[in-house]
Amino acid sequence: MSDTSVRQAAEGRDHPDLDSSRFAADACVRVLARRFPPYHRDSSCVGVLDRFLHDPVLAAAAVVDNDMRPVGLVDRYSLVEQFLHPYSRDLYHKSTIAEFMDPRPIIVDADSSIDDLSRIIIDAGMRHMVSGFVITEDGAYLGIGSGHDLFEEVANRKQNHLYYLAHYDQLTGLPNRLLLSDRLKRACLRGQRGGYRIALLFVDLDRFKRVNDTLGHAAGDQLLQGVAGRFAACVRKVDTVARLGGDEFTVLLEPVSGQQEAMDVAAKLVESLDRPFFIQNHEVATGASVGVVLFPEHDLTVDGLMRKADAAMYHAKHEGRRQAVLFTEEMNSIVVERVTLEACLSSALEKGEFQCVFQPQLTMADNSVVGAEALLRWIHPELGPVPPSKFIPVAEETGMIFALGLWVLEEACMQQVRWLAAGLPPLRIAVNISALQFKNREFCDQIRAVVHKSGIRPEHLELELTESAVMADAEHSVGILKSLRDFGIHLAIDDFGTGYSSLSYLRKFPLHRLKIDRSFISRIDQIPANALIVKAIVALGDSLGLDVIAEGVETPEELECVRRCGCSSYQGYRLSEPLSGEDFARWFKRSGYV
Ligand code: C2E
Ligand code: MG
Ligand code: MG
Repeated sequence: MSDTSVRQAAEGRDHPDLDSSRFAADACVRVLARRFPPYHRDSSCVGVLDRFLHDPVLAAAAVVDNDMRPVGLVDRYSLVEQFLHPYSRDLYHKSTIAEFMDPRPIIVDADSSIDDLSRIIIDAGMRHMVSGFVITEDGAYLGIGSGHDLFEEVANRKQNHLYYLAHYDQLTGLPNRLLLSDRLKRACLRGQRGGYRIALLFVDLDRFKRVNDTLGHAAGDQLLQGVAGRFAACVRKVDTVARLGGDEFTVLLEPVSGQQEAMDVAAKLVESLDRPFFIQNHEVATGASVGVVLFPEHDLTVDGLMRKADAAMYHAKHEGRRQAVLFTEEMNSIVVERVTLEACLSSALEKGEFQCVFQPQLTMADNSVVGAEALLRWIHPELGPVPPSKFIPVAEETGMIFALGLWVLEEACMQQVRWLAAGLPPLRIAVNISALQFKNREFCDQIRAVVHKSGIRPEHLELELTESAVMADAEHSVGILKSLRDFGIHLAIDDFGTGYSSLSYLRKFPLHRLKIDRSFISRIDQIPANALIVKAIVALGDSLGLDVIAEGVETPEELECVRRCGCSSYQGYRLSEPLSGEDFARWFKRSGYV
């Protein structure tokens, strides 16, 4: 183990929840040793008898040689029984204890495990449970053990071990969900009686899945153990840090003075992961999103507190991660909605609930329709139409975006080919690509496969990527974009202006156009700052040789302003709402746009 991992493993180890030794099933025989003085083999048997008669606790006595090595064992009942006969004292008063001892007692070393001792006794005969056994250390007498003590110890340890297995997470040694809810229930009762506050913190790790996927499960396990230690080091000994499963941790603070204290601890948890971990010679970074609820302010029940802490955590994750968020009532409805969406989304593609619609794009110069953007629509039989802003993030989180993204891509390409066959001019179809799809190693191959399968010409397909997707790993993106461009595909940056594009990279990316975000187009005729931004983006596009399109143009005034700012094309309700494939063809033929 490296220095760092030793330190890592040691973090938080003094928290009582992480001390699993009290539940260990493999205790040693030393704990059973009753250190009664032994007798020499030449001792008088009457002396030993008198000691038994005066000391009712003494069940057996060891007999040793000159070197303190055990040579036998005398147990209370057999000795006392011998002396019940009349005149026995007179008869045996000169005898040594060696004549009464069992010369082959069970002798065990103090460091043997209790399990081993139990096995020896079972093998040697259960009578040793009654007579007891001799415990030695380095071969010399240490003490006497009794069957009764052994039985108690075995039963206790087994019970403790079973309790441990049922209530503690085996990987991290932290309390599990069962123990946490039990402690939370008791904490609520005590809080109610004592009139004090409790805080419950839900923590989810950022990017944990990536560690598991890239470095393997063993590395993931080590990361979880490291995180457990750091979290335990952030709280008082009276507080509980639990692992609910996966990368979900929970912290119970009892009592807390109020919101501030709870949020301070939550911030400490987040900060504790600022330092990276060193796992298998890799520097592994993770982060924590924390949701915080307070008893009694937010809820009085265990279930309610758990659900609301989870909702706040979910919120923290979606508001940018690596932060702590306090629960508010409006978060609740968001979570209920999300859970419903997630459940429905998984089967929506199979059930044919998705539809692809198309919104035309027009050039300013000659008023001709040059392309269309494909947009996903989900019409759920009960929930009705669900907007992409709601279901795309869920699809991304559940990984469903891969199947869904591929489906849109195929639909859009096939539609373009159908339009051509129906006599429409060769329009360029733009498809939105999620950052996750773009990052996927098979992305380029998938695009090529769809192009071949559908029969679309590559130059008639445009991919709309977001700034954050291409900037996330800019060096890597350059290669992917180049290979797509070499294949003939058009590339656009969507929602331009909202991300953090680095100009030096923008120059390196082989792009075709920038799509100005709708927020800058909205009321551009009334907001001078928006017009300035749009002009600046157009100037940037010119200098990079990129086409600039405005999206979300709604009014004639906006259109006029966008034109004056120098955008070469536009899209928006002013021209048309997104339409189904057939409606689009009809609209096109009627519209008079060439
Ligand atoms: P986007 O790619 O920027 O798409 C433009 C959005 O603006 C669309 O919303 C469109 O219906 C809407 N829009 C168009 N013209 C106007 C207008 O004049 N005024 C206003 N207020 N809105 C207008 P939609 O369809 O709700 O899509 C929202 C976002 O969801 C899209 O933004 C895109 O980021 C994402 N999305 C939609 N379909 C897909 C898809 O197939 N794959 C992926 N990954 N994302 C998609
Ligand atoms: Mg788009
Ligand atoms: Mg956009």
